[in-house]
Amino acid sequence: MLRSIFEKWPDSEVEARESHTVLSCLFSAVEDNDNAIAAWNVSSRRASCQSCFESLSDVTIFLCKQCLAVWLCTDCHSSLLSDDLPPEMCNKKHNFLEIPEYDSSEWEETGDAMIKVRDSILPRKDWLDGLRVQWNVTEEQLARKKAEEEAEARASDIIGRRVGKWWKESRKQDGAVQATNNN
Ligand SMILES: [Zn+2]
Ligand SMILES: [Zn+2]
Repeated sequence: MLRSIFEKWPDSEVEARESHTVLSCLFSAVEDNDNAIAAWNVSSRRASCQSCFESLSDVTIFLCKQCLAVWLCTDCHSSLLSDDLPPEMCNKKHNFLEIPEYDSSEWEETGDAMIKVRDSILPRKDWLDGLRVQWNVTEEQLARKKAEEEAEARASDIIGRRVGKWWKESRKQDGAVQATNNN
């Protein structure tokens, strides 16, 4: 899923911001919190709470790790925990990533083309390229592992059949030997 996002990465900055929101949700789901927070901080200027629709720039937010598309302000998150949100809106048993308030004045210092990941600031393009490589590699490794497992399963299947055949033939021979002995 991450890979397909990178493959379909939009050219326009507005759409790219939305893609950062999706990335943030996916990273939080795979417990890559640093990248989830970094991605969120790129998209946060446009986001609003999904329950009260208040703007979420420069406030603490709660990103649901299960819903993949639910982010709430602190107040609505508290309401969720005390069963005051409509039941179709997420679930209080879900795990949340708490993303601390981001000081948007940092944008003015670092510029739009940069991203802050933990304590380092790097060009957004380099960050994305790195993730692309990382996730492609990971998915290729998974694909390779699967192919190896399948090859192993096939090999043991062939060995199993050979052993079975050998077993049957040796039984036949035993039978033949016994038949001769009985004569
Ligand atoms: Zn809210
Ligand atoms: Zn949820």
